[in-house]
Amino acid sequence: MSPPADVEAAARAAEAFTARFGAAPEGVWAAPGRVNVIGEHTDYNGGHVLPVALPHTVRAAAARRDDGRLVLTSAQHPGADADVALTDLVPGTPGGWAGYPAGVVDQVRAQVPGGLGLLVDGDVPAGSGLSSSAALECAVALAVRDLLGLDWGPDDLVDVARRAENDFVGAPTGILDQSASVLCTAGHALHLDTRDRTWEQVPLDLEGAGLALLVVDSGTTHDHAESGYGERRRQCEEAARRLGVGLLCDVPDAAGLAALDDGTDEGAVLLRRARHVVTEDARVAEVVALLRAGTDPRAIGPVLTAGHASLRDDFEVSVPELDAVVEVALAAGAHGARMVGGGFGGSAVALVDADAVDRVTAAVAERAGAPRSHVVVPSAGARRLS
Ligand code: ADP
Ligand code: MG
Repeated sequence: MSPPADVEAAARAAEAFTARFGAAPEGVWAAPGRVNVIGEHTDYNGGHVLPVALPHTVRAAAARRDDGRLVLTSAQHPGADADVALTDLVPGTPGGWAGYPAGVVDQVRAQVPGGLGLLVDGDVPAGSGLSSSAALECAVALAVRDLLGLDWGPDDLVDVARRAENDFVGAPTGILDQSASVLCTAGHALHLDTRDRTWEQVPLDLEGAGLALLVVDSGTTHDHAESGYGERRRQCEEAARRLGVGLLCDVPDAAGLAALDDGTDEGAVLLRRARHVVTEDARVAEVVALLRAGTDPRAIGPVLTAGHASLRDDFEVSVPELDAVVEVALAAGAHGARMVGGGFGGSAVALVDADAVDRVTAAVAERAGAPRSHVVVPSAGARRLS
């Protein structure tokens, strides 16, 4: 499934909005999903990340109302509209998909006494680790900013979107997803320091190098994805506490983690968790240095594969389905491959020669049971479409 161009996507959303609400929207906004090239589970440890935006987006067509209600409808969730008085918004209500946009609107309740109608349409695969949730929040945050004339910069958009997910929906996330959706630019990866929130755009011209970044959906989501994520966050906090540092990425290298090994099983687990975080942060620096030096991007392949081994063995968030995708992709000629996202299911990425895309896609479909793959071109961040 290749995503529609902006003009076509905007027209479709506007048309659906008009059909649903009986009047044209005041505008259409879009925000992309993301895939992280390297830097997994570093974003809540004060480390670095390197995402690219997907060509796939979530669109929000919106118009203000005068009846004090928030009316939400999604082309991907027919029959699950939400229609609530603004004064009735509380974390958790509305629930389900409507919680993400409602969590954004809730933060500007005082400024939208009249209400808001929103139609959502998107093609970011949901629940595959490609951050459809952040795409949805960011598209709505942009719409709200423009419609209400709010003075929000990029950091404000990121914060509003993230608070919707953390505080209203109740899903803990770092700032990677929303930052990528807002800040990424076409043809670049976003090198973000999650500690001080400074960022730089790193040129990533895969096409020019005869390469493609293939995102492979493993087709699995494990029930313990959320609890597993929460447990890893707590383990990272505990490791930092035992080491006497504020955040794990204050530790410069794996040698600085030795004190965690106190002879207990728990100490050994914390050491492995912390070792993933600290070595992963170093892998981000390594990949950025390679790309900045103008090296053939194939050189980053082994660093990605090392990142997978670390997520599998030290952080223990991979699953056999993801390991299989990575192994099969490498055997079929990928220069590097790794699972992406929180883990316990979701997607993997593989860096492959452009002329090997079909071969690798067929191999992961046949031998790793992963029939859905997308070629990802580093694309633009959140924007107004019409
Ligand atoms: P991910 O962000 O990795 O895709 P999440 O579980 O964080 O997975 O977010 C997925 C949820 O986001 C969906 O279950 C749905 O509630 C919401 N969502 C994503 N895309 C849309 C859409 N186009 N319309 C409505 N809700 C959406
Ligand atoms: Mg998400």
